[in-house]
Amino acid sequence: MTKNSAGQPKVAVRRRRSLFATSLVVTCTIAAVVPALAQAVGGEHTDPSRDAKGPLDLAGVSFKQDAREVTITIRTHDPVGNGQLPGGKSGTLCVTLEWGSPLGPQKRLCVVKVGDGKTAVNDDRLNPRNGKILARKQRRISTHQGTRFVLRFDPVDLGLPVGLLHFGVRSSWRLGKACRHTCEDKLPSSGTFPARVYRAVAAGCAATSGQVTSGPSSGKRVAITFDDGPSSYTSGYLASLRAEGGVATFFQIGQQVPGQGAIERSILAGGNALANHSWDHADLSRGGSFASSELSRTSAAIKTASGGYRACLYRPPYGATSSSLVSAGNALGMKSVLWDVDTNDWKLPGTSAIISRAVNGARAGSIILMHDGGGNRSQTAAAVGPIVRGLKARGFTLVTVPELLGLKTTYRLSTS
Ligand code: ZN
Repeated sequence: MTKNSAGQPKVAVRRRRSLFATSLVVTCTIAAVVPALAQAVGGEHTDPSRDAKGPLDLAGVSFKQDAREVTITIRTHDPVGNGQLPGGKSGTLCVTLEWGSPLGPQKRLCVVKVGDGKTAVNDDRLNPRNGKILARKQRRISTHQGTRFVLRFDPVDLGLPVGLLHFGVRSSWRLGKACRHTCEDKLPSSGTFPARVYRAVAAGCAATSGQVTSGPSSGKRVAITFDDGPSSYTSGYLASLRAEGGVATFFQIGQQVPGQGAIERSILAGGNALANHSWDHADLSRGGSFASSELSRTSAAIKTASGGYRACLYRPPYGATSSSLVSAGNALGMKSVLWDVDTNDWKLPGTSAIISRAVNGARAGSIILMHDGGGNRSQTAAAVGPIVRGLKARGFTLVTVPELLGLKTTYRLSTS
């Protein structure tokens, strides 16, 4: 333990009969073939022909995920001017997402203009049985330029499930003689495209050198940290964090890590971070090869047990730091992390005292010290849920220490 102080209108589907029935036949034939080719998940889907005349005639769509970000790119054949942006009377442009068993529409993301050339997305949660809107939230997750509408979002924020889902794009508009009534285009022409949402699991972080006691005060963010684990309490902390929508950083003792692969993976799956707290809780302040060895062995144990996570942060046991220790850490590409809010939970001051110290002591950028293992942690275990709720009630966003410090985090995409 560390002891000294730290989102459609009903569309009258009157497909422009003008240009020729033949083109519609061709479209249908192609449509019967394309879905089979489109089974490859995550690729680019193109509209087989210019099948509608209007500003929102669809040309293609793609659904891709990179790290924690899904990007849906919708292309139109012609550039869409600011006066032609969807929303209101100018038309609609929506992506419908389907999942569940039985498969049904769960979410519709409609691009709407919100001022001068700017767009937002009405995120509608749907009743999968009848497609009616249950709830709407407007999100600033879209950009538009020329023929491209791009939606970028964290699938977790939108409540998308990990795994296979199905999607389709539909646009509608009104346009002079060519389209006296409402016209529409759909992609695919019938059915849906498959897509996959992955769970983004942290695979490591890259540190800058040095030492910190807190993060930047810009942005109302705080980081909860747990030292001295993994322990028999860890899974309980994870359950509380998950229940309250919080994350934490776990500074672990190396010798306690081997054989704890399940708990290590569970920590990462919850969006938390792993970090280093020496091999055997030694005083590392003399630095040199001793400190290097303690840190290296621990990072190796974390990497092995977690399935590859590369830690970039350590916390000196007892907060016993020195310039020579920081130098040793720098050489390993690791940053020393102390704290600015100490709950002193290990002294067993009572659950309410621990909650009060964490919640009331926090300011923007705070790193809050608590303990995972090393003794009786029943008070800490009881305090975690109320602390997350209390910090959120004060307007703080809980982040991991790598996030708080703006360190580059790499992710691997998991299907589970
Ligand atoms: Zn400790």
